[in-house]
Amino acid sequence: RPIVAIVGRPNVGKSTVFNRIIGDKLAIVEDKPGVTRDRLYGRGEWLDTEFSVIDTGGIEIEGEDQIMKSVRMQAELAIEEADVIVFMVDAKAGITPADSEVAEMLFRAKKPVIIAVNKVDNLKRMDDIYEFYSLGFGDVVGISGSHGTGIGDLLDEVIKHFPDTSEEEYGEDVIKVALIGRPNVGKSSLVNAILGEERVIVSNVAGTTRDAIDTPFEKDGQKYVIIDTAGMRKRGKVYESTEKYSVMRAMKAIERADVVLVVIDGEEGIIEQDKHVAGYAHEAGKAAIFVVNKWDIVEKDDKTMHQFTQKIRDHFLFMTYAPVVYLSAKTKQRLHKLFPVVTNVAEQHAARVATHVLNDVVSDAVAINPPPTDKGKRLRINYATQVAVKPPTIIFFVNDPELMHFSYQRYLENKIRGAFGFEGTPLRMFTRRKS
Ligand code: GDP
Repeated sequence: RPIVAIVGRPNVGKSTVFNRIIGDKLAIVEDKPGVTRDRLYGRGEWLDTEFSVIDTGGIEIEGEDQIMKSVRMQAELAIEEADVIVFMVDAKAGITPADSEVAEMLFRAKKPVIIAVNKVDNLKRMDDIYEFYSLGFGDVVGISGSHGTGIGDLLDEVIKHFPDTSEEEYGEDVIKVALIGRPNVGKSSLVNAILGEERVIVSNVAGTTRDAIDTPFEKDGQKYVIIDTAGMRKRGKVYESTEKYSVMRAMKAIERADVVLVVIDGEEGIIEQDKHVAGYAHEAGKAAIFVVNKWDIVEKDDKTMHQFTQKIRDHFLFMTYAPVVYLSAKTKQRLHKLFPVVTNVAEQHAARVATHVLNDVVSDAVAINPPPTDKGKRLRINYATQVAVKPPTIIFFVNDPELMHFSYQRYLENKIRGAFGFEGTPLRMFTRRKS
């Protein structure tokens, strides 16, 4: 069941709204030492969808200067636990420094956030909600907890953001590809070029979600779905909005994808903005490919490609595993090189290695370069095992997890990649105690 958390500073009306949402159902109180009240859990239901709701308002520390501290704790809790966060603010008070701080925390957490502007007690106050768009979230709803107005609109927005359970419509054999990149790098052109290829069979069912257009197709016997967020903007509509919203859309597309194509303008080069969404793909554990587009208009010699790749490596230090493909969506030059790479990284993303083979590689790595000692203690790895795919996730069972340093883990990762490839996919590594 999805979890909705309500956060906001004291006195914005969280408890009133919480009670409106759970109706006459029972609230569960959870004791938490060190705070004046408790946090509340309840069950909500809207349009046949059930969910849990947490009122983090319980975590309120008394005293003026404690407001920041308590909202920070609430936000942390919501970020940790919730699928959707309702961020409550006060129409009468406007944006306070505490609001801005929470907004920043929530934005970094990349969870869906709905801003509920409370105390919109009459229609005249409706104008007061617009200022809250500047907090950087796309969904702002005016409500009145005391009158009960706008709660339905709020819940409409909330349930739209629940994790998509209709995901299985595509099946395990379908590779889901999302295209991301800033405006004008050529995402739409690339989608058109891909779908326009001779050997591509596009099924006529193109699904439109709230944030993207999905086009399923088949090519050389492999099924794919293209998740296209740029197409939404091209259709005009309300989506023709600020960059912030397109970043949010990109994040959602990434969440649904197996393989993320990070499209870069070969002519303009890499800019700071490219990093954020690419970093998100990495954190979300998705396979990734850098696609350098507009290669037709780049002035080049035999070193240009190498130099550009080097630049990508310098900018995206954490994504050295992602291959780089150069092409032109416009002239279709080198376009045929893209999909073999997509298929390969998708396979690597879903690859599984046998425990005994993995342990042979780890033992060899340890023999060549034993872990350094730390305060007289040395890390001992008892064994390693892959516990998940998409992305491949490996657990090391060791004598003391504290002794696994970042640099040594990096070394092990390199050895593992050297042995198994895992091209295009991040690897997750965890260390657990077991002697
Ligand atoms: P999007 O905003 O990322 O979807 O970018 P578009 O697909 O709308 O492309 C932006 C502009 O770049 C358009 O004018 C395209 O014609 C142009 N463009 C796209 N791909 C290429 C390419 O490979 N070469 C050249 N020369 N222009 C391109």
